[in-house]
Amino acid sequence: LVRIRQVKKSFGDNTVLRDITMDVRAGEVVCLLGSSGAGKSTLLRAINRLEKIDAGQIWVDEMLVGFGEYRDGVRELTERGMAAQRAHIGMVFQRFNLFPHMTALQNVMEAPRAVRRLSGAAAKAEARELLESVGLADKMEHYPAQLSGGQQQRVAIARALAMKPQLMLFDEPTSALDPELVGEVLKVMTELARQGMTMIVVTHEMGFAREVADRVVLMHGGEIVEDASAADFFENPQHERTRQFIASST
Ligand code: ATP
Ligand code: MG
Repeated sequence: LVRIRQVKKSFGDNTVLRDITMDVRAGEVVCLLGSSGAGKSTLLRAINRLEKIDAGQIWVDEMLVGFGEYRDGVRELTERGMAAQRAHIGMVFQRFNLFPHMTALQNVMEAPRAVRRLSGAAAKAEARELLESVGLADKMEHYPAQLSGGQQQRVAIARALAMKPQLMLFDEPTSALDPELVGEVLKVMTELARQGMTMIVVTHEMGFAREVADRVVLMHGGEIVEDASAADFFENPQHERTRQFIASST
């Protein structure tokens, strides 16, 4: 579903992505690990085309997202094409960026109404179902300020799902949460993985990576150090840096 080839990205003379090549198959859950500054967020943003890359290619569902050296015969997406493509990629950030003046229900309904052009009633019915599925049946009329961080993050997940994405990107979705709220968000993500959603998850939650991920990828200095099944990554890492990373994070 996602094909990343030789992607490079610099900010000025700071090279953030050196040469990233990886694939994510439909239905796969890939956890992206790495120390601060490794380039994890930049890679996620590039997949969603929030960040323009300098070289290489990124395809999502056979459509080219990347910029740079195009292969023969590959057409550049138009702006409209890119907007359509991005609409099928859900993203959840570290900081819950809900609309503060809207209730949970309104937050989840907004994009389907505006972008998918659903009627108010249809969008509301879908939004109710989604909020129920993340365990917030009793919080639909609450505003973000009236919700805990974990609840807000579950609204953010429901809101992303409301666009019926084929791919979900998570950038440290639990690292701004109080420890006792982390579990409820991971539970929702685990359920989503079980339903077959394709997910790329930047996280420091080693337990989640070990138990839920199909593959675990370690980045360092803009490069992929290790890309392995979760079992191999934790039980039989091939690189010294991976061993050090695991030792320092568990
Ligand atoms: P963290 O774990 O801290 O979130 P990360 O692996 O997500 O780290 P990135 O956010 O991708 O790392 O950042 C990688 C490098 O790119 C850092 O050195 C950062 O300073 C730089 N960087 C990121 N975004 C920008 C930007 N918009 N302008 C300039 N430099 C940037
Ligand atoms: Mg980051």
